[in-house]
Amino acid sequence: MKYLALSFVAALVGLPALAADRVAVPRPANFVSAEDWGSRPDPIPDERRHTPQFVTLHHAGVRWTIDRDPVEFIRNMQAWGKRRPEIEEPPRNTFWADLPYHFLIAPDGRIFEGRSLDYEPESNTKYDLAGHLGVELMGNFEEQRPSPAQVESAVRLVAWLVAKFDLTLEAISTHAKVADGQTSCPGRDFNRYMEGSPSQFEKWVGQVLRGEELMIDLGPPLEEGPTELITESTKPTE
Ligand SMILES: [Zn+2]
Repeated sequence: MKYLALSFVAALVGLPALAADRVAVPRPANFVSAEDWGSRPDPIPDERRHTPQFVTLHHAGVRWTIDRDPVEFIRNMQAWGKRRPEIEEPPRNTFWADLPYHFLIAPDGRIFEGRSLDYEPESNTKYDLAGHLGVELMGNFEEQRPSPAQVESAVRLVAWLVAKFDLTLEAISTHAKVADGQTSCPGRDFNRYMEGSPSQFEKWVGQVLRGEELMIDLGPPLEEGPTELITESTKPTE
């Protein structure tokens, strides 16, 4: 009874309006579970447990070419994280028991499950990691453009996470915003969709949350920005 009264008052002042306008958001269809791609994480210490509060977007920062295999890319990243103490110089020589990101999105739109949502991510930059869910898009958007399928998967994944953890659109951010001055990640050709309030990306997520048809138009290349589409990027000829 007490809760009923509280929620009635909250409704009067408009507090829970956001959640009330939302439809149930399904997990995106092109999802590849950690088990399905053969993830082999080490245990993460309990002190790294967190409560998800933000969804933070990244790019890999490595130019993608069409000869690459996303599964191999992820397996190599996971193996590298565990070998950092042996192969990296300080301060990058910390042990990463699992992938630094919670999800990784391939140019074809497949969403690979990474680190467990129960644990904070890893980073080579300095910011308070607790609460952040890291979503990485493969590619380097300083040099190439994301594919429509990849952006659509990012939007549907972020909408699913926002709904699942009852977050607001303000919880959606980028690595460059949370680690101010330390990185341009996720690159200028993705950051363009993250600028303004609400940003284009937030508008797309809002369409999914309201159960509307998702209308993604990536627009023309930026002036002086990359023109190469990630799904057409080939290795340089020697
Ligand atoms: Zn990043």
